[in-house]
Amino acid sequence: MVSITLPDGNIKKYEAPVTGTQIAKDIAPSLLKKALVIEINGEHKDLDIQITKDSIVKIVTMDDNYALELIRHDSAHCMAMAVQELFPGTQVTIGPVIENGFYYDFAREEPFTEHDLEKIENKMKEIIDLDPKTRREVWERDKAIEHFKNIGEHYKAEIIESIPAGEELSIYYHGNNWHDLCRGPHLPSLGKIGKAFKLMKVAGAYWRGDSNNQMLQRIYGTCWKTKKDLDDYLKRIEEAEKRDHRKLGKSLDLFHFQEESPGAVFWHQKGWSLFQSLVNFMRDKQTRAGYLEVNTPEMLDKTLWEKSGHWEKFQEYMYTTDADEKTFAIKPMNCPGHIQVFNQGLKSYKDLPLKISEFGKVHRYEPSGALHGLMRVRAFTQDDAHIFCTEEQITEESLKVTNLILDIYKSFGFDDVKLKFSDRPEKRVGDDLIWDQSEKALLDAIKTSGLKYDINKGEGAFYGPKIEFILIDAIGREWQCGTLQVDFNLPGRLGASYVANDGNKKVPVMLHRAMFGSLERFIGILIEHHAGKFPFWLAPDQIAVLPISSEQNDYAIKLKMLLEKKGLRTIIDNRNEKINYKIREHSVSKIPVLMICGSKEVQNNSITIRRLGQEHQQTISLEEAIEKFSSESITPTI
Ligand SMILES: [Zn+2]
Ligand SMILES: [Zn+2]
Repeated sequence: MVSITLPDGNIKKYEAPVTGTQIAKDIAPSLLKKALVIEINGEHKDLDIQITKDSIVKIVTMDDNYALELIRHDSAHCMAMAVQELFPGTQVTIGPVIENGFYYDFAREEPFTEHDLEKIENKMKEIIDLDPKTRREVWERDKAIEHFKNIGEHYKAEIIESIPAGEELSIYYHGNNWHDLCRGPHLPSLGKIGKAFKLMKVAGAYWRGDSNNQMLQRIYGTCWKTKKDLDDYLKRIEEAEKRDHRKLGKSLDLFHFQEESPGAVFWHQKGWSLFQSLVNFMRDKQTRAGYLEVNTPEMLDKTLWEKSGHWEKFQEYMYTTDADEKTFAIKPMNCPGHIQVFNQGLKSYKDLPLKISEFGKVHRYEPSGALHGLMRVRAFTQDDAHIFCTEEQITEESLKVTNLILDIYKSFGFDDVKLKFSDRPEKRVGDDLIWDQSEKALLDAIKTSGLKYDINKGEGAFYGPKIEFILIDAIGREWQCGTLQVDFNLPGRLGASYVANDGNKKVPVMLHRAMFGSLERFIGILIEHHAGKFPFWLAPDQIAVLPISSEQNDYAIKLKMLLEKKGLRTIIDNRNEKINYKIREHSVSKIPVLMICGSKEVQNNSITIRRLGQEHQQTISLEEAIEKFSSESITPTI
């Protein structure tokens, strides 16, 4: 007898073995129809796997979150099946589930075309209509290798060869013939996938991700539970493409990249203005919060990086250069530099917390394939800070940092923020007592914020727990930006100490924190979040003054001077063009405020205001306009 505990606590007794199919049927025939897989003691398995011992089970249906992963996985199999039917001789390799969908890598001489994708998609639909049943077999290793070699699937044979002996090899059949090596689990039949999927694109990918290997063709697909989910997703992508910061960066003349310096930004005047606005904003907030801004060298002797542990752990990301018969590394992080500043002069507990900040330019060697506009670069500027404090101060300082970060995000129009908390990993330094204390400190900070949070068990660094701050942008995408990390390790490694109130020397705790994270990336996110329409206080050009004819030029020039006196970034367009043409052009370049002056405005000492995205115009007096926009331009305060 086995006893099967259901989610509602009911227990069913069976003669062993019993399958998920049987259990679902016994609960309700309608449940069997909806059943996709079974969860047995927390693990997902095929419906017809045999259960031989007492278990807690749950029948998984489309209502479960896990269903998405299942239908995406089956879609990958179904696509491979379709490809091999349409293009015999194509070899299959691997086909995992990814965010929003799946892909499969194929080995085929001829490239797949856009038209092929359509054909494959239609073939998949045909297969789904036939609803082939799934069957799982366990094969013996040598037999499996030989079998896949015989049918010309050399990549599969290679995969099996690399699987450690002793691991069970399961082969999944969909229908009578097509089969693939797979861990599973799978839907009972391919018809359960539904038809809310779409093949998106084909791209090159090296076998096993190694550029020395053969180039394969990767077909990407997306798959959802319902047609509506699919449509929403496609709309989201379309919207994301429209907002692409690389496109907007070009059309708004903010920055460019070029091959001579991969992953490093050439900032144009307008982009740099944006960058400086962020720096000034942050500098102001940090000064008020008691941070001391410093600047530390970009290159430091390799021996220091060896002491800090970066050389061992981070070396492959570090650029080096030789001089004076020494090796120097360009900093990938600012922390060791800040400890050198802390170490100057004797520190006492009265000096703590000591907060050192820097807009530190760091370099990290990212593989060229990973680079992506401003979002992933090799040279970037962190709004980095390190708080040196006592163990007792961790709680209060963590709370302060969290509040500061959240307020700052709000100022930029991000109201939706999520937190991720990572606690102690198995391998770690530091006393468990201090871990208890600092984990509690971070959790308290999170709870006080009242925001949604996830816990990543055991995902903290070996030197301390951390919080990651995740922004949710205007189209629902998540961006991890800020971090707050407790560190019991580095200060000691680099010889930091202070005199405690009992007269003894102690090692301070260090909190690493960044709010924007990388300024370059944060600007990329801002561009996409606002679709290039920056809030007035941030916009590189805030106001364009447009005289209707040359007769108002003097008036326009005077106005521009008055606005600039108030610190407003103003341009003037006194070209001999029609006013409607000028309005259109400056709207396309997303200048938030246009000030139009004709003979009436000159006569009345007034100005006509038109805001970006609005048809409505308003005429007000000159003084009123200057007053209004200089107060609107003040950076949001906490
Ligand atoms: Zn599979
Ligand atoms: Zn740091």
